[in-house]
Amino acid sequence: MISLEEAQERILAAIEPLPAEKIRVQDALGRYLAAPIHSPVDLPPADNSSMDGYAVRAADLASATVENPVVLRLSGEARAGNAFAGSVEAGACVRIFTGATLPRGADAVVMQEDVKQAADQPGKIIMSEKVKPWENVRLRGEDVRQNALLAGAGDELTAQRLSLLAGAGVAEVTAGRRPVAGLLATGDELREAGRALPPGTIYESNRTGLSALARAAGAIPRVYPLVADDLALTKQALRTAFQECDVVVTSGGVSVGATDWVKQAFAEIGGQLDFWTVAVKPGRPFAFGRHGGKLLFGLPGNPVSAFVTFFLLARPALLRLQGAGDLRPPVSYGTLAEPLGNHGERRHFVRVVLDAGGQVRSAGSQASHILSSMARANGLVDVPPGTTWPAGTLVAVLRWN
Ligand code: AMP
Ligand code: MG
Repeated sequence: MISLEEAQERILAAIEPLPAEKIRVQDALGRYLAAPIHSPVDLPPADNSSMDGYAVRAADLASATVENPVVLRLSGEARAGNAFAGSVEAGACVRIFTGATLPRGADAVVMQEDVKQAADQPGKIIMSEKVKPWENVRLRGEDVRQNALLAGAGDELTAQRLSLLAGAGVAEVTAGRRPVAGLLATGDELREAGRALPPGTIYESNRTGLSALARAAGAIPRVYPLVADDLALTKQALRTAFQECDVVVTSGGVSVGATDWVKQAFAEIGGQLDFWTVAVKPGRPFAFGRHGGKLLFGLPGNPVSAFVTFFLLARPALLRLQGAGDLRPPVSYGTLAEPLGNHGERRHFVRVVLDAGGQVRSAGSQASHILSSMARANGLVDVPPGTTWPAGTLVAVLRWN
């Protein structure tokens, strides 16, 4: 039995990112950059106004007061997308709108609300306040300089980063390919949802939960038919899945029972088992191996064990295959509202509910077949063996949503 950290290291050591591909920025949400991207332009590309008002020379208003206003001559208009062709001369101003390029000569914008127009003197604008140079002006390049790094290799393309790339005019990115993850469930007792449930059978749930987790990790899940507890059928199912997928995830049949065929079947089709059993609860019987350049994650059958081991061990691998830089699950911190203990000999990843006020509670029964507490939980707390933490302890919650 190896530690979780050793298992994670051995898995990741076996993985090279899949070849990268070019994709359009608007299709890139959730993908990982294979190469850094530098800005092709200054952002903003030109000095422009942040207000509706008047573009002026700040020096012209140095003496402006309410009692002694300065009157400027209006010499034109600058609209967003429609620049003023001339320049602002001393004693003059240009009507300007938000986003319009600042005309040559001008170095500040006076808000529309701060000026008056003399009713009897069209073309004259009355300014009764000073303005600082560059007030209400957005400067060229103040957001991003041309050639500055917009996003690095391994960065996730979030909605926020995609906005930045689009704003800099980037239309295409190079991102790691998404791995295809084949999902197999083994067990004579398993039935498909929507069918009858004869005595002794249960509905199969692992492929559904795991394909959702795989998708959330950026992979393309591929769900295979149920596999009976039979060596030849298990070999056949594995062979097909390894032909069609980058990663094969099985559930069940990986322990020491008389009907547990996954490891033997994997070995007989040419797979190399790397390790088996990890010192975590839930989920000790976990097998990892390689088949050609492809990976086997042999998860335990119990639904919570399968889900948690996928989250802890398969998810980082799927991310690495896509070229992700950060493989850790998101973590939030909270305070125990009640004691949380682990009386066992293995680290226990306890299903918890972290509420909006930062309080953490057990999500209910922690047995590895209890789906309802898993559904209630929004994350896991890693509790060391033989440990009880009192209420009030600050804990890290690994978030799975
Ligand atoms: P196994 O690892 O095959 O010994 O299965 C352990 C437990 O998990 C048994 O109670 C199985 O019935 C159950 N189980 C195995 N596979 C699944 C599955 N895909 N969906 C729901 N329960 C399962
Ligand atoms: Mg089984």
